[in-house]
Amino acid sequence: MALIVAKFGGTSVADVERIGIVADKIAREIALGHSLVVVVSAMSGVTNQLIQYCADTSPLYDAREYDVVVSSGEQVVAGLLALALQKRGVNARSWMGWQIPIRTNDMHGKARIEGIETDELHTRLGTGEVVVVPGFQGVTDAGRISTLGRGGSDTTAVALAVALGADRCDIYTDVDGVYTTDPRIVSKARKLKTISFEEMIEMASAGARVLQTRSVEIAMKRGVKLQVLSSFEDHIGSDLPGTLVTSEESIVEEELVSGIAYDRNEAKVTLLNVPDVPGVAAMVFQSLAGAAVNVDMIVQNISSDGKATDLTFTIGRADLGKAMETLGSVETLKGVDVQSKENLSKVSVVGVGMISHHGVASKMFETLAEKNINIHVISTSEIKISVLIDEEYTELAVRSLHAAYGLEQDA
Ligand code: ASP
Ligand code: MG
Repeated sequence: MALIVAKFGGTSVADVERIGIVADKIAREIALGHSLVVVVSAMSGVTNQLIQYCADTSPLYDAREYDVVVSSGEQVVAGLLALALQKRGVNARSWMGWQIPIRTNDMHGKARIEGIETDELHTRLGTGEVVVVPGFQGVTDAGRISTLGRGGSDTTAVALAVALGADRCDIYTDVDGVYTTDPRIVSKARKLKTISFEEMIEMASAGARVLQTRSVEIAMKRGVKLQVLSSFEDHIGSDLPGTLVTSEESIVEEELVSGIAYDRNEAKVTLLNVPDVPGVAAMVFQSLAGAAVNVDMIVQNISSDGKATDLTFTIGRADLGKAMETLGSVETLKGVDVQSKENLSKVSVVGVGMISHHGVASKMFETLAEKNINIHVISTSEIKISVLIDEEYTELAVRSLHAAYGLEQDA
């Protein structure tokens, strides 16, 4: 009999009726003799609403209080699910992050898990009790509630699977697996049976919203058996219907390209005429890191006169204001022209196959050129090519690339 961590996302627990369906699924796993730890998100839309309440109350909100507010959506669902399970005759109890405890550092709003105490949970599981845990939340050393960043419930689930030594971590969502691209944009998108951890990390960080990147990183590092499946379909995780995220070695048939991801939340910052001397890039990116701004693509031009150069990078759109303010306060950058542009998208082609095949990049650029889509910035990793384009061309780019790489269902 297996120990399973099952996580249900916001659309899967969107209302009391959906929570009932989740409870039915858990009851069926329990009937098979498995032990269950269930991690829940807030009802869909609730976290956005809570964030809006904070913004409306105080534009410069204190991150500690922000965490108190935004962590509450998960608490409600955890309690409701425990009630729904009890109603079905399943022994269940909810455990808040601070009760377990799930210890995190004190980076409020994007905290990292540092440790999870499991003795009590193991005892409860041993008695056949279902342990229900609100995702997304933890507790700092100072005893304050913290949250793990948007999409953090995935990370709660994977971290619990590691700490408890679970046999499997099932992530239930509103799609029945990981697709070659967003099925809402390309109706012929195909469900992948397996995807490697590496590709999943690239897909997630490139904007595929199925799993929080951090959760896949932990799963890869700790060898967690992770699968993505739909809570809207009849089967339960033990029927293995979804997409298995696994190590590269265990994937027999590798595809050249596994998927096309996109992210509409990009903003570009360009520093014109920065002094071409050692330490400037370090200073720019240290100051941004200090302000907790995540930088994505980075391009520096060669300096034609040996004195000055241009530096371009991309960040999340929400961080643009903070980034501009931070850069404005760096002494060495006084006099440097800092420009920014919003309404950009990043479109990425991901696949481990590109390590051993040529022509993957040229096909991407050809395809975009045919559609007259201009590329602002290009960046690559071993298994990913990303381009920054005007947001209005996102769908066109995704559709054309999906077709160009032969990812359609019937191809
Ligand atoms: N409710 C949180 C969010 O919307 C965490 C999660 O659902 O994973 O970001
Ligand atoms: Mg999510």
